[in-house]
Amino acid sequence: MKQNQPDLSLLIPCYNEEENLEKLFSHLQLVLNPLNLDYEIVCINDGSKDDTLQQLINYHRQDNRIKIINLSRNFGKEIAMSAGLDYTTGKVVIPIDAELQDPPELIIDLMAKWREGYDMVYAVRKSRQGESWLKKKTADYFYSIIGKISVIPIPPNTGDYRLLDEKVVKALRQLPEKNRFMKGLFSWVGYRQAAIYFERLPRYGGKSSFNYWKLWNFALDGITSFSSIPLKIWSYFGVFISLIALLYGLFLLLKTLIFGIDLPGYASTIVAILFLGGIQLITLGVMGEYIARIYEEVKGRPLYLIRETYGFEEQ
Ligand code: UDP
Ligand code: MG
Repeated sequence: MKQNQPDLSLLIPCYNEEENLEKLFSHLQLVLNPLNLDYEIVCINDGSKDDTLQQLINYHRQDNRIKIINLSRNFGKEIAMSAGLDYTTGKVVIPIDAELQDPPELIIDLMAKWREGYDMVYAVRKSRQGESWLKKKTADYFYSIIGKISVIPIPPNTGDYRLLDEKVVKALRQLPEKNRFMKGLFSWVGYRQAAIYFERLPRYGGKSSFNYWKLWNFALDGITSFSSIPLKIWSYFGVFISLIALLYGLFLLLKTLIFGIDLPGYASTIVAILFLGGIQLITLGVMGEYIARIYEEVKGRPLYLIRETYGFEEQ
């Protein structure tokens, strides 16, 4: 099987990308042709509702190095990428977004760094052009929080655009989890990693499919898969509150013994009840976040389903 192993596999998750494909493929050709590499381009159609699949099929007919995995519905980018990783055959794999935010020219730098002997080369964004102040700010907060509580360091401002040696791809295929926070999994596997820096471009066409609600849940996925601190802090918090309650109780006891009963105290009672009730609901909610994810894992459903593939017949 290794006889005609390509040097490079590009992995492109595509969800409603009809506006971008033409530009993407012409740009990729421009970068790849002079490199004189044997390459394949594995496109995952993640349940697109527009003309993406038809366009991909046309490109595949013109050039059989363009291969397609058509998922049975939209599974989300992380799963689409995992599906692609199961099918790539290259010595190195580079996942790249379809909307040309990741400049294809960087492939040359990624490959150069890999030749120096690194197993994974990730591309760190120096800037995020065309993104709102709020998105940049929330992204900063997210990276700083996950940086503090994650069990393994996750490099900030790093997307999925990176080079993976086939060793790393094999390792990633062994990870069985359903909740796939790829940025974290890429770091978790280890190996020799290096960074290169680039300017992230604004989208070429279409709009991001990630709204703030999706991003929030994406952040929760990341934090819950790489840290159990949110689960554990509450026991310390509980000890702290119990200690305060004990001291306050002693104080009230002495005060009553010395000065007798004084009844008013409605406001403080209500505040204490509401405050503690709120804390308890938060802890339940945090537990819920983890339990829901445990439930997703134990159901044991397949990660993705494929409707058909194009270009993998010989394998
Ligand atoms: N994508 C996907 N499935 C989805 C959403 C996005 O495969 O459900 C792909 C999309 O086609 C693109 C990449 O993931 O190639 C990044 O998507 P997007 O630009 O919307 O995300 P952002 O760059 O804003 O993180
Ligand atoms: Mg994008």
